[in-house]
This record gives sequence, C-alpha cells and structure tokens, in this order.
Amino acid sequence: MSLFEKCYRFTKAREVMAAGYYPYFVPIEASYDTEVVIRGERKVMVGSNNYLGLTHHPKVVTAAGEALRKYGSGCTGSRFLNGTLDLHERLEERLARFLNQEAALVFSTGFQTNLGVISALVQREDHLFSDKLNHASIVDGARLAFGTVHRYPHSDLRSLERELARTPSEAGKLIVTDGIFSMEGSIVDLPGVMSLAERYGAEVMIDDAHAFGVLGENGRGTAEHFGMEDRVSLIMLTFSKSLASIGGAIAGPEDVIHYLKHHARSLIFSASNPPSAVAAALAALEVLEEEPERREALWHNTRRMQAGLRSLGFDIGESETPIIPVQVGDMERMFVFWKTLFDAGVFTNPVTPPAVPENACRLRVSLMATHTDDHVDLVLDAFAKAGKRMAVT
Ligand code: PMP
Repeated sequence: MSLFEKCYRFTKAREVMAAGYYPYFVPIEASYDTEVVIRGERKVMVGSNNYLGLTHHPKVVTAAGEALRKYGSGCTGSRFLNGTLDLHERLEERLARFLNQEAALVFSTGFQTNLGVISALVQREDHLFSDKLNHASIVDGARLAFGTVHRYPHSDLRSLERELARTPSEAGKLIVTDGIFSMEGSIVDLPGVMSLAERYGAEVMIDDAHAFGVLGENGRGTAEHFGMEDRVSLIMLTFSKSLASIGGAIAGPEDVIHYLKHHARSLIFSASNPPSAVAAALAALEVLEEEPERREALWHNTRRMQAGLRSLGFDIGESETPIIPVQVGDMERMFVFWKTLFDAGVFTNPVTPPAVPENACRLRVSLMATHTDDHVDLVLDAFAKAGKRMAVT
C-alpha cells in the first residue's frame, strides 16, 4: 500500500461534511467572551476552556498589548537560548508562590509540558503509572519515556495498587493523573492515590489543566481542594484555560525543576511562547487572585447547568465540575444533535472515539464565570428542544 493510501481511504469526515453536520475547524469570526460570531450569527460559547472568562478582561488585554510593543511579536528561539524573557521568570516565580511550590518552569504549551516532564523524568529503570483516561499529552509523554509504563483502568485504585506492589521497591516511580478528567468532568480520588503513593514510595504528578483556577478555595487546584498541597510532588498546568492564554508550566521541588530545565526536550528544542501570551497569563493570574468572585460565578453557573440538564433527563455521568458531558450515543446521532444545538445558537464540543468509547459519544458543555443566567437558560432550552427531537431524553 502506498504511503498516502490511508489518506485517500479516509472518507468519514468528508461524508459528515457532505451531510452538512461537520462540527470541526469551525472558523470564529469574532469573539465577545461568552458569545462568538460564526457565519455572521451569534452563538453562546459553551465549548471553550475559558473558565474564568479572562480572555477579554481589560487588564489581560492591556498587558498583552504592552508586551507585544515592548518585546515584539515572538521570541524566535527556545527558553534554553534566546527565548527567556524576564516575563517568563516573573511568571515562574508567581506560579511557584501561588501554588506553594519551590519552583516552576514555563513551557510553550501544556502539551509540551507533559511531553517534556514525563519523558525527562521516567528513565530506563523507572516506572510510570498513568490513569487510562489521562490526557493525550500524558499518553504521548509516556510513549516517549524510556521507563516501564503501567496504564491502569480509569480511577481503579486496586489495579494501581497491584501494579505498584509488583514493581521493585527501589525503582523510581511516578503516578500521573489528571486532576479533573477532561472528558468526564470528574475529580480524581487524590486521597486514595496519595495513600498508595506514600505506601509504595511513588511521586505524584497532577495534571491540573482543568482544575487550576477552578478547584480549591483559592483556585490552586486539585491538591488545594483536598488539602494535600504539601504532599503532591508535581503540579502541571496550562495557560490555555483559566489563564486565558497559551503556555504550560510544571511546579515542584527546585532540584527537579532545575533538572527539567536541562533535560526536557520539548522545552529546549522548541521556541518559547510569545511575550503577549506570557504577559496575558501573568495578568490573568493576578486577576484570578484579586477576583475570587469569578470562581463563585463559575460554580453558580455550573450548578445551574448541571441541575437543569439532569432535570431535563440528560445523562451527564459523573460530572462534578464546569465540564459537563451530555451522553448522546453513536457518532451520527451526536453530529445531528450538535448541529441542532448550533442552529439554535449554542456552540458545544462533540466528543468522539478515541477520546471516548464507541457509542459513548457526548456533547461537552463547559461553563464560564461570565455566562449569565440568561445564557444558561438559553442553552438549557436548546437542549430541551433538541433532546425531544432526537429522543435522547
Ligand atoms: N492536559 C489536559 C488535561 C488538557 O485538557 C490539555 C488541553 N486540552 C492539555 C494538557 C494540553 O494543554 P495545552 O492546550 O496547553 O497544550
């Protein structure tokens, strides 16, 4: 078979396009925080990760603009060589202080953070333990790691314990888990994971992409939520969600961060994130600390949406966070459901295999602090009508 044969045979997406239901790569013509313009029409955005609604906050936009003028449009090099700005260092100090960790390291994206950290830490003699529903960047980081990888069934701590018990006690061990699982909206059982880690001498790394700014009294994430900040070893976060920008970071012991600075290949061999993005994340972190009412508003919207969807009869699974997956069934049904909501002015995220099992396709709703009660009502109304039409409820 020729190299491109697989491309010629890939017809699924074209079929969905021809049927008029294709939901991907939809170009947004303008964005007003909770509402976007697509093909000239306003849609309520419930498919973003902009949890605190900070992409349009005046402080964030001003900081990005000032950095653009002061440093230019890009860093044109990696953190290791010419791509470190004083802004990167300031953000690292702020993040470490905020998370009560010794040090932090800023990468260009969250994806690259997971790739770089996991592959640099898990060397030949080491063992990695990873929840099967962890994010793709953790899966790929595990593929790049030279150590032994154990993938345990989602949240199955008995399996995790079995694997840990089988591993030589002197071997280096890292348990990595999402804090909030991005397709389920559920929170990891961190106390359970921590007690196993402590029993078997493993370090714990939490991917707090969706929990940073969302969980914990001060928005410090999963470890704060469970009162375990002094027990987890590494906290990973991304700037592409609550911090309204692009970039990623790892926070933890200074010696580990120092090692990663000199060994994480995705840091050393890729250009750093641009000045405007770093400045935006810095400003967003300040707003996150100064305006806790945003987190309250996010949870208010989350509770209303969860209660509303449940009372309409939708299955939203284990969701206990602003990520609310609505079970729809097979892929075709989900595309039609998505388009029905889209035509009613609601932008959701369609989730298909391999992110979820066959026939467990779902539409993911993500709340923002800046959604109004009217937005939530409009979305619920659209779901009610579409659900009836599609006989999902
Ligand atoms: N981890 C998780 C759990 C995520 O959801 C994401 C982004 N979807 C990432 C890591 C990667 O982050 P980024 O968008 O910054 O590459």
